[in-house]
Amino acid sequence: MSNGEKVISPDYSKKDRKIRKLQRKLARQQKGSSRLEITRLRIAKQHNQIADTRKDFLHKLSTKVVSENQAIILEDLNVSGMVKNRRLARVISLQGWREFRVLCEVKSEKFNRDFRVISRWEPTSQTCSCCGYRWGKIDLSVRSVLCLNCNTQHDRDENASQNIKMVGMGHRHDPKRTQRTGKTGSPAQSGEASRITAPR
Ligand SMILES: [Zn+2]
Repeated sequence: MSNGEKVISPDYSKKDRKIRKLQRKLARQQKGSSRLEITRLRIAKQHNQIADTRKDFLHKLSTKVVSENQAIILEDLNVSGMVKNRRLARVISLQGWREFRVLCEVKSEKFNRDFRVISRWEPTSQTCSCCGYRWGKIDLSVRSVLCLNCNTQHDRDENASQNIKMVGMGHRHDPKRTQRTGKTGSPAQSGEASRITAPR
């Protein structure tokens, strides 16, 4: 979030692993048998528990975010395009980002807040939120970036949240203007240390 706060979601992985294990078991069991029926119910129960935990978490978080802020700006993420990795896709789908967005939108209306979603094409993770310098695409594994132009060390998510806020409030990054007026960084030398720092 743009106030620097980070929120950690509940860990659904244990129950998710259990579901996958039970599903493998289910596939081996005889159709129409009572044992299969028991497995089916156990899977449904795990799914329900995950959904309950998630719903509770997302409700509390959206209520907090909406009640504490006058404007709520989210980024529209291309979730299916974002992850090519199947494991990561599963983890992300368990988070319920869409559900969170809907909850924020509904509550914003109820409490008369300004709710906006910015385009997925805004380069929120490719641009310095301090000076507007655009360093380009960085891999998801890179969590921290040093801006060459203004020498600010950014946490990836914090920087993106600042950009989301700026874009949502009507500010546009203008790379041409930044390049003219900003300090010009020198091109990278082959021997110099990485300008994009590796994850800790
Ligand atoms: Zn910068």
